[in-house]
Amino acid sequence: MFDLSYYMPTKIIYGKNCVENNAEVFKSLGKKCLIVTGKHSAKECGALDDILKTFKRFDIESIIFDEVLQNPLLSVCKKGGQIAMENNADFIVGIGGGSPLDSAKAISVFASNDLKPIDIYNEVYENKPLPLVLIGTTAGTGSEVTPYSVLTVDETSRKRTVHNIFADLCFCDYRYTVSLNYHFSVSTALDSLSHCIESYFSPKSNTISQDFAASGIKLVYEVLDSLKDECFTDEQRQKLYAASIYGGLSITKTGTGFCHALGYYLTENFDVSHGFACAEFLPAYIKNAVTSEPKKAQKLFSEINLSPEKLSDKIKAFTTLPEVTITDEDKAKMFERWNVNGIFKNSPGNFNANDAIKLYDELF
Ligand code: NAP
Ligand code: FE
Repeated sequence: MFDLSYYMPTKIIYGKNCVENNAEVFKSLGKKCLIVTGKHSAKECGALDDILKTFKRFDIESIIFDEVLQNPLLSVCKKGGQIAMENNADFIVGIGGGSPLDSAKAISVFASNDLKPIDIYNEVYENKPLPLVLIGTTAGTGSEVTPYSVLTVDETSRKRTVHNIFADLCFCDYRYTVSLNYHFSVSTALDSLSHCIESYFSPKSNTISQDFAASGIKLVYEVLDSLKDECFTDEQRQKLYAASIYGGLSITKTGTGFCHALGYYLTENFDVSHGFACAEFLPAYIKNAVTSEPKKAQKLFSEINLSPEKLSDKIKAFTTLPEVTITDEDKAKMFERWNVNGIFKNSPGNFNANDAIKLYDELF
């Protein structure tokens, strides 16, 4: 009747001003830190200042590595790891959206292991990664609480996931997401909605991950349904941040489904932001789930008091299909990429590479 098996070792420190209110936790982490960020957002949202103030209080030295761009490169993570190693950093703090947080995870591995970049995907490391603290500034990926680090492999320009790097602790203060612009606020909201929907219908889901996922879906829908004039209220920001953590907790159990796998192709080749790229495929995912998992679907939609059509229509209202041209040669490459055993194992209904190409044909 129930299955409550679950593992997530990251300590979550949650709430307004949580960095300032829990500053003592840094005392035990060491005396030197590499801070990993993107170019602007860590400063703009106030999180970097909060950390630097805390470090001053406890006499912790810091080096700022701010070279992380969107869809972060594996080579940049290796560089960050080398800088941490050369400077004898004791721990790593990542501040940002999914891109800096995922990079900080990989950097914590490279900082204590002299690995070739690509060998991070072996997921076996001689030395323990450096202690890792994450501070989220977008409400989307839930990377704070997942073991995933999604990086772009330089040689292939393809996104590939490392599956086994949990942070030691994360700070979740929705105030840091307030400076996020409308485009990225919607994109990241759609990302967390994708996590929750994909996870709910994954064959690996269980009672606990489904409860997280249903809570997240409800919250994102409420916000999208009540949004006015492209402005988010304080309450809406709180709901979106909570949904992103619920989404992260749910995919920690299940992984993501075909919306993410197919969305990576749109991001890599047509520069579509991650959340929008995944959400393009959500209505098809929902349709597929309703047909192949009718009982699960009925349970979810009665619990969140919505119909599959209403949820899909809301998603469609926030997405516009990008101008995309896909040739037969592209399709052959896509087929080869996706015709790999197990790649769609987290999606319901025996979805396969032929279905993926068919879906691209239908949509674009
Ligand atoms: P992101 O790529 O981290 O950031 C997008 C943009 O938003 C950047 O320009 C960033 O600026 C800016 N930004 C971030 N926070 C801001 C704030 N508070 N105020 C103003 N601007 C802000 O976006 P994301 O959607 O959070 O992350 C996407 C990445 O995460 C993708 O690579 C995706 O594959 C990955 N992902 C990971 C997981 C996981 O479990 N690990 C799950 C889903 C997706 P800066 O450049 O200045 O930082
Ligand atoms: Fe995602």
